[in-house]
Amino acid sequence: MTFKELNISEPILDALVKKKYSLPTPVQEQAIPVALKGHDLLGIAQTGTGKTAAFAIPVIQQLNRMTPKGTERNIQALILTPTRELAIQIDECFSDYARYTNLRHTVIFGGVNQRPQVNSLKQGVDILIATPGRLLDLINQKYITLNHVKHFILDEADRMLDMGFIHDIKRLLPLLPKQKQTLFFSATMPQAIANLSKSILNKPVRIEVTPESSVVDTIEQRLYFVEKSQKSQLLVNILQKKKRSVLVFSRTKHGADKIARVLNRQGIGCEAIHGNKTQVARQRALANFKSGKTHVIIATDIAARGIDIVNLEMVINYDLPDVAETYVHRIGRTGRAGNGGTALTFCSQEEYTIVKDIQKLTGRKLNTVAIPA
Ligand code: AMP
Repeated sequence: MTFKELNISEPILDALVKKKYSLPTPVQEQAIPVALKGHDLLGIAQTGTGKTAAFAIPVIQQLNRMTPKGTERNIQALILTPTRELAIQIDECFSDYARYTNLRHTVIFGGVNQRPQVNSLKQGVDILIATPGRLLDLINQKYITLNHVKHFILDEADRMLDMGFIHDIKRLLPLLPKQKQTLFFSATMPQAIANLSKSILNKPVRIEVTPESSVVDTIEQRLYFVEKSQKSQLLVNILQKKKRSVLVFSRTKHGADKIARVLNRQGIGCEAIHGNKTQVARQRALANFKSGKTHVIIATDIAARGIDIVNLEMVINYDLPDVAETYVHRIGRTGRAGNGGTALTFCSQEEYTIVKDIQKLTGRKLNTVAIPA
């Protein structure tokens, strides 16, 4: 199926050509027709599946039809997302896909001065991308009203709950008009998320792509049994041989900094990103990585959630995550869009139970590799 067959309008089709997207991804194929018909949607899809375009395209198309040039701007679409990185990334997607329309959008998130965001809002926007805390803040200060919202998108709902945003969401929901279209996306569907979705969706169409337990076939997975104290040496050895785009996962912020120090000492250019770094530092680290200035980035799970790097060649689990599902998320950062990818996992004795969980969840045995002498 082509984008044209999904009844996407010319200005958006042109923007997709410019992005060099040739065909819709499965989540786009399923979600776009449903959303264009005005239905509510419950989408189970993780980052990397193309879900941003799956909600952005129908929102842009529906608003573009209804917003004649020169009219007063009101926020007609609200996209709520848990992290600043995701918010910025979604905003960039709107810039790309709406480039041939006259729609205006902006992004707001916490941790930075609010003034530029307020100035941007004052100029009038049709589409607002926001993290919950800053949104509530600016609503309280009367810079934002949600009275005109026709499309509400809740992105990464499971991560929202994980990060403790449930109360913010519950405070925001009554501020939205009753009559609206809601698109709800989550990578997983635990009971709490299912309950939340039931409470806010109206006869939703449910779509599901790449269930949580599935690992893309193009990812080569390798397991190294290694003592905790030997992990940094193993990492150095691997990275010295292969200098390429590598995302290393650390369980803690402190651990990420420590790994970065060790690698830098060995002349391996890298940066760490995590919640203790300033927004500016995180953006700079990402930009350096994307441009190829650095080849390695070390991240905690939450910080990594917002990273969108198309050509990531390798993911290294320096530490195993606490739960097996997170492993699937992590390694899904490589092997995207049909490209090959490699996922290495460093497992110490204490971490072996998680490896067993991972093998059970994914239905595959991880390939054990002997540590090079
Ligand atoms: P997302 O899941 O929205 O974070 O998207 C993951 C990546 O896939 C982003 O880099 C998008 O630019 C890219 N992408 C989204 N849709 C398509 C498509 N139809 N064809 C090729 N790449 C796409």
